[in-house]
Amino acid sequence: MKIKTIEPIVLKIPFDAGASSQGFGDKPWTSYDMLVVRIETDNGLVGWGEAWGYGIIPATRTTIADIVSPHLIGREVAGFSAMLDEVRYKLHLFGRNGTVNYSLAGIEIALWDIWGKANNLSIHELLGGARRLAFEAYASLLPYRGPDIVAEISARAVDKGYAAVKLHEIEMAPIRAARAAIGPDVALTVDTNCPWTLQQAKAMARQMADCNIMWLEEPIWPPENFSALAELNRESGIAIAAGENVGSVREFSTMLSKDAVSYVQPSVTKIGGITEMQKVFVLADAHNVTVAPHSPYFGPGFAATLHLAATLPYAVQIERVYVDLEASPFAAMINLKDGRIAVPRGPGLGIEPDIAVLTRYRVA
Ligand SMILES: [Mg+2]
Repeated sequence: MKIKTIEPIVLKIPFDAGASSQGFGDKPWTSYDMLVVRIETDNGLVGWGEAWGYGIIPATRTTIADIVSPHLIGREVAGFSAMLDEVRYKLHLFGRNGTVNYSLAGIEIALWDIWGKANNLSIHELLGGARRLAFEAYASLLPYRGPDIVAEISARAVDKGYAAVKLHEIEMAPIRAARAAIGPDVALTVDTNCPWTLQQAKAMARQMADCNIMWLEEPIWPPENFSALAELNRESGIAIAAGENVGSVREFSTMLSKDAVSYVQPSVTKIGGITEMQKVFVLADAHNVTVAPHSPYFGPGFAATLHLAATLPYAVQIERVYVDLEASPFAAMINLKDGRIAVPRGPGLGIEPDIAVLTRYRVA
């Protein structure tokens, strides 16, 4: 069974975020951009993957099509981990964290999907079996900035059945407003996306002390300042979470050796796929650190995260970006049922896209 085609597919799906989000750039954020990877084999199997998306999609799409795929077309699917390691080595001089990684992730997830389909086993079965098949989810809110709207949307998420709320806010007023809105018992986390020096982060953590924050995510600039994260994790009284911007297993090893975090957040579409993510699980276990997967996806990357999370010895909460997509080619997988997100069943990822929806929202 050989790889016949590797096709990057770009989707742009409008969403309703409940109010105008400030986005992570300068413009309000109104649609979700997704980079799906479709691989077809010479015997007609099709696998689906997802590479890290958002604003980097044009570069990742080109990297998949023009730089990574030529190394893989015509190759055997069997033994794909070794094959992808070989490509990772060949392309290492183009960066160990970035579009090469994201491309390999999208392709690797699709190859796992194909390997599962070829063997009639789901990915969690291929990984050794699930310890659970459904998870609570936390609502990962967009940045809104205004305390009233952050409070309103936080409360709405809890009403809808989410077990916890994550804010993307960097000021105290919206954080306090959210805590007041959801009451004292619902877990609240704060993701700041790397804004502060160590001293600034310490001052902010002191202000958050009475908000019962379960974790403070990526408080330090730059994200690889592990010694600063470690000092904050040790001294601030708030557990630190980070990892979505870590590019390799080796870098995770450095981070964990420095006791930089209490929650480690590998991202399957960024770190290079399912096998690399599994290695981070092993490292985390050896360092007694809890895995909290980064999963702001709505496609095969989300499914891959669920299969991986199913193998952990403890129940994690799954990150679900809290927006309503106008439509989704993977709608069955991404929504809460009875307050839980279910791990897809069936061979491979256990999901098949609705091709009509995929076609309708395809932009490249
Ligand atoms: Mg984050």
